[in-house]
Order: sequence, then structure tokens, then C-alpha cells
Amino acid sequence: MGTPLHVLIIDDSEDDAMLLGRQLRQWGYEPDWARVDSVASLTEALERRHWDLILGDYSMPSFSGTRALAMVRECDPDTPYIFVSGTIGEQAAVEAMRSGAQDYVMKGDFKRLLPVIERELREALTRRERRRAEERLAYLAHHDALTGLPNRVLFIDRLEQALRDARRRQRIVGVAFVDLDRFKIINDSLGHAAGDDLLKQVGTRLRALVRSGDTVARLSGDEFTLVLADMGNAEDAAWLGQKILDDFGGPFPIDGREFYISASVGIALYPVDGEDAEALLRHADMAMYRAKEAGRNGYQFYAAEMMTRAANNLALQNALRSALLFEELLLHYQPMIELASGGIGAAEALLRWQHPELGLVLPDRFVPLAEETGQIVPIGMWVLQRACAQCRAWELGGMPPIRIAVNLSARQFAEKNLVAGILQVLEQSGLPAERLELEITESVLMQDTDNAQAALGKLRDAGICLTLDDFGTGYSSLSYLKRFPVSHLKIDRSFVHDLPGDGDAAAIATAIIAMAHRLHIRTIAEGVETREQLQFLRDEGCDFVQGYYYSRPQPDEQFARYLSTCAKPAPDVS
Ligand code: C2E
Ligand code: MG
Ligand code: MG
Repeated sequence: MGTPLHVLIIDDSEDDAMLLGRQLRQWGYEPDWARVDSVASLTEALERRHWDLILGDYSMPSFSGTRALAMVRECDPDTPYIFVSGTIGEQAAVEAMRSGAQDYVMKGDFKRLLPVIERELREALTRRERRRAEERLAYLAHHDALTGLPNRVLFIDRLEQALRDARRRQRIVGVAFVDLDRFKIINDSLGHAAGDDLLKQVGTRLRALVRSGDTVARLSGDEFTLVLADMGNAEDAAWLGQKILDDFGGPFPIDGREFYISASVGIALYPVDGEDAEALLRHADMAMYRAKEAGRNGYQFYAAEMMTRAANNLALQNALRSALLFEELLLHYQPMIELASGGIGAAEALLRWQHPELGLVLPDRFVPLAEETGQIVPIGMWVLQRACAQCRAWELGGMPPIRIAVNLSARQFAEKNLVAGILQVLEQSGLPAERLELEITESVLMQDTDNAQAALGKLRDAGICLTLDDFGTGYSSLSYLKRFPVSHLKIDRSFVHDLPGDGDAAAIATAIIAMAHRLHIRTIAEGVETREQLQFLRDEGCDFVQGYYYSRPQPDEQFARYLSTCAKPAPDVS
């Protein structure tokens, strides 16, 4: 049995074709050949199948060799095409090679034809493999390997294309930024394979929600972006935002179990929110963050008002420079109730800014700005001094001794003399180290700097308690808990908020408490507002609770009064 070979012979002579067929057989091939000699028959043959080799006459009475070559090249650039013809002259031969023929062999010169065919079959194979590799590379360069969706490069490309169309036709283009809420938890608790599975399902589901002309891309991690091309009005985008939220209301099956995950969606529209791809993407991203801030599981439009917000931020940042100087900062205190005893275990010092025009400004509004400029370093030291002095003053005033909790920014850990500064404050205030609790967020633990790591160790050695704040919202990595000397862990109020009705929140809270206890870490639930939440946390063995249910953060004199009343038996919490 010879090597199978599909050969298309373009020749007006059946005899010549048969001769070629016979020769190929003699050379050890198993040729399955067909002969064509017109535009129609060639078109039909090219549509019918792929050919390994084409042997074509150059001059036929009713069909031109160059025309046939052009037709073949149009549908297949790789198949070897060899002219087998009578004398065609040097000029025509050169022309034929230029137009994409591999070689030219005189009819009857079989001695030369065989090596030419062998060589060209080999080269065609190489060409095809190279092309496939190139196509694969081009695909990889434009797609996300996990979900098969377009990646950032292709996304920008498609967005730019949509913008060009929209400019011409005066249409609206929407860019949606979709970020999964608390994806990290699924990833960490169920493993990466489950996380990957979820991401794939999210990709498929988003794809199913948009029209075929729209693009769904995965930018990175749990960030997906959509190009909503050619929209009639902005309401279409709102409708899609809602559709995404509704769709995510349905479960995601993973390993035979059902999981729920919500998403936060930010939307920016061309032309109102930006003219180019980069601006639109950035603004959709900002809008997504606003959706997160607004409590997740929602969508937000960018809208120009956010620019005003940015301008305001700048003004606020400038005003903040003088806040310390003009003594505009103050602290409010919020109790943490120890559930076992019912007494006040500690108070958290929460920063406030009495702005001359804006009134009382809350930290979420200005602490991030102070972190950006580094002002949080002196401000943070001021908070520490004030809080420690106050705590000691209460005690000296005859109140029961409680611990004072102070929030530290990750930014403060970049300071070389942070630990020395803290120890000095303790000494000056006369407050024992055990009575100070420092609240840090996971981002501090994630900082790889030796400085941060060493600082945490030294603080703990000095006897200061370290509390991991807002647990569950960041990396939520258990391995960090094991490695760091954390004594308390605060369950983020976003979980507490959904207790006890929400199954996911309940499962997460229960798991955090159980896991913390196994690591000998005490748990605090923040944002407790209702009796039901309290009951749930008590049943699960949570150690401390903090929230409006007991008390809002209050100014020092008011807190002192509260403290003195609570020195008697603790308020009824059962
Ligand atoms: P945090 O440390 O997680 O503080 C808890 C926040 O939850 C406080 O908001 C508190 O008022 C609020 N909260 C307490 N109970 C409830 C409740 O029952 N329901 C609701 N909805 N909220 C409750 P606040 O005072 O606005 O502080 C916000 C954040 O600002 C703090 O979050 C903390 O990260 C930061 N912060 C506050 N003071 C300082 C500070 O001195 N330094 C630094 N670096 N950050 C601070
Ligand atoms: Mg805190
Ligand atoms: Mg917190």
C-alpha cells in the first residue's frame, strides 16, 4: 500500500492526467486523483475537499493556468502547486512562481518531477505546521487560557472597533466592569480548581446574557469586562446590569453542590463618560468600586458626578493638611461587649474630623486620602496618643479598666520607627501594653516587607494585642493567621449584616469563629445591630460583639457616662 495522496490535476487532456496518475503510483503513492479543466469544475473540486498536491497545466484551450493558480491560492495558501506543462518560456515561468506556484516542470520530465513533488510535500507540511503554531500563538495572545474568553488585548481591540463604529453612526457604547464579590473566599475555602470552575461558569453565563455582537472578556482574576456595542440608549446598559445581578441570583453548581456568588458591576458609556477605550475602562472600574462601596451585589453608572468627587477629594486632601494643626480631629469610642461576662471588654477609638464647613466627616471619606499622601502617619500617631491617654484617664477617674483598640493603617508599617513610637506613647500615657489593642487589616500581613513582619513580632512581644480587622473582605487566608501572632479577629460587618437569614453569611461566620477558636484566636463581630444577629453570634460562640445594638461610637464624655453605668451589671443581652 502506497502513501495516500489526494492530487488535483488541472489539465485538458485525460491521457496526460492518467499518465501522471500512473507515475505517482509507480513512485509509491496511492493517488486519489481528479482532473478538472474549467473554472466551474475547479471551484467544485476545491469546495469538495482538501488537496495534498496540485499539478496544473499552464496553457489549456479554455482555461488559463494563471487563473487556476489564483483560484487555488485564494482558498488555500499552503497546498503545493506545480506547473506541469509544455514549454512556457522563462518569463511566464518566473511570473508563475511569483504568483505562488512552487515549481515548474516540463511535461514528460518525470525524472525531475519526482524530487520536486517530494520536496514540496515536505515543505507544505512545514508551512502548515508553522501556520498552525502561529494561529495558536495569535489565539493565546488574545484569549484567556482558562475561560477561552478574549483577554485585555482583544477586549481593547474590540472596544476600539465598537467606538469607531459608534462615532460614525452616532451610537452609544457601554463598557461594563464586573467583579465577583468575595471570590477569594470560594477560592481559599474550596480550592483553586473549584475557583477556576466558577470563573468558567461565570464566563459562560455572562456570554449568554449579551448579544452576539457584544464582547465578554476576562481581564484578570475575577474581573470580567463587557463591550456593549451599538446601543440605542443608556437604559439598555442598566437593563443589562440588572440582568447580570438577576442571573447571578441563581446557583453555580460546583462539585455537585450549589454555590452563590454575587457581583458588583460598574458601567461607563461612550460618549458621555469618555471618548476612548482607556478612559471608559477606567471609569467603568471606578463605578464598579462605587458599587462595592454601596454594599456589593449592585450596579452603578460612572456618570460625570464622579469627577466632581475626585475634585472634592483633592480639596479635602489639602484641607486635611491643616486638620491636625487646627485641632479639628477627634475620637469617638464604641464599646465591644464580652458575651461571656456581658461586660465591656474594650472600646474602639474611631477617628472623626470636625471640618469647619462640612461638619463631622467620617473616616471612610478622609482616611484613604490621608493614606495616599502619607498624612496618616502623623494622624495615626495622634490617634494613638489621644486614645491611650483617654483610656488611662477613664481608669484614673474610677471607671473599670478596659482595653482600647486603635486602628492602624498598612501605610504606617512602612515607617521604621513605628514600634518605638507606639512603645513611647504607652510609656507616656502610663497605659499597660496589655490594655492596647491594635487593629490591622490583612493587607498588613500580606506586606512582604521585613519591616512590617518584624514590627508585628515586636508589638506582640511587648504584650500588645493584635486584632485582624474586617476579616473576610480581603485575602481571608488561614495560613496567614497561623503564621502571625494575631490574638483577635474581627468578622467584617458585611457578613454580620446578613445574619442570621442569609445562609452563606451564616456559614461563613460560623466557619470563621470555629476556625479562629481552633487557632486560639478570639473573635469579635462588628456591626451587630439586631437581637437576632446577637443571638446567632452568641450561639456560635463568638467572644465579643460591637455595634449599634449596644452603642454607636460616641464622644469621650458620653462614653465615660456609658462606661460608668456599665460598671454595674452589663446591659441585658439575652
Ligand atoms: P473599622 O475599623 O472596621 O470600624 C468599624 C466601623 O463600623 C466604624 O465606622 C463604626 O462606626 C462602624 N459601625 C460600628 N457598629 C456598626 C453597626 O452596628 N452598623 C454599622 N452599619 N456600622 C457600624 P467608622 O467610624 O466610620 O470607621 C470606618 C473605618 O475607618 C474603620 O473601620 C477604620 O478602618 C477606619 N478608621 C477609623 N478610625 C481610624 C484611625 O484612627 N486610623 C485609621 N487608620 N483608620 C481608621
Ligand atoms: Mg477597626
Ligand atoms: Mg472593621
